[in-house]
Amino acid sequence: MEIINRRKRMMSVARRLRREENRTIGFVPTMGALHEGHLSLIHEARAMCDVVVVSVFVNPAQFSPAEDFASYPRDLTRDSALLAEYNVDYVFAPTVEEIYPPGFSSYVTVAGLSDQLEGASRPEHFRGVTTVVAILLNVVKPDFAFFGQKDAQQVILIKRMVRDLAFSAEIVVVPIVREESGLAMSSRNNYLNDEQRRAGAVLSQALLKAREAYEGGEHSAARLLELVRGTIEKEPLARIDYVSVNDAETLEKPEKIDDRPALVSLAVFIGNTRLIDNVVLGKAKGNVAAEANA
Ligand code: AMP
Repeated sequence: MEIINRRKRMMSVARRLRREENRTIGFVPTMGALHEGHLSLIHEARAMCDVVVVSVFVNPAQFSPAEDFASYPRDLTRDSALLAEYNVDYVFAPTVEEIYPPGFSSYVTVAGLSDQLEGASRPEHFRGVTTVVAILLNVVKPDFAFFGQKDAQQVILIKRMVRDLAFSAEIVVVPIVREESGLAMSSRNNYLNDEQRRAGAVLSQALLKAREAYEGGEHSAARLLELVRGTIEKEPLARIDYVSVNDAETLEKPEKIDDRPALVSLAVFIGNTRLIDNVVLGKAKGNVAAEANA
């Protein structure tokens, strides 16, 4: 396994793999602090591709000034050891200057999809995400790029960006990996103490209730929202940021969940830690993002 810090080196290695060795490249972008959620993406990439490239880059552009960029957990030594164990071929771990050289001034925005849900609470967040993913896709030029359903809106935006701007990578969406309690794995779970971790399980419990109600015939978005909110509000340590039902592709808000898959997503504070989770309800027609939770 080689650790690469320079974008030029990463570009030339990837070019050689593609052109001279004719090997398929699977790419998994991460911010490090790896857990089993990340590892399932890598596992999928390993199964589908000849070569696996994982990036570890805490992207300043997707954090607002009040967020945890400075304190976000970083441990490249531990991450590299895990990645070597998982037979990753290349780790791309650039510095901030390597990704955003002096004078950097080009950004990618997916209009209409980036200012609601996560975007409403975190202005600029998705501009940072789509910009860094665009850069990374241009550096690595993978055949397949792997993203987690955990960040459902991110997946929707990236798929739209890749289609609109004709990136050649195919986007593969991997289901949410959860702890035994149901809590979706996240690097930010490291911030939770034992009691908060227990309380964090209410997010997935509420979503599970919504799924059960939907499967029992409740298709009204308002009533499903009420059910999710009501469940979370019973947990004293939880404070809701948002709960929402949206079309799983366009993010429009349906009154009833009928013929198109719907994304039920939420963000909840447990103490100072903001957790997100989601479930997709309804039949997916070849939409991988929607199938991921099926
Ligand atoms: P991050 O390091 O948080 O930027 O995450 C890197 C990738 O891992 C993203 O595509 C995430 O959606 C994915 N990911 C993070 N947590 C999970 C999880 N619990 N299950 C599946 N994928 C995840």
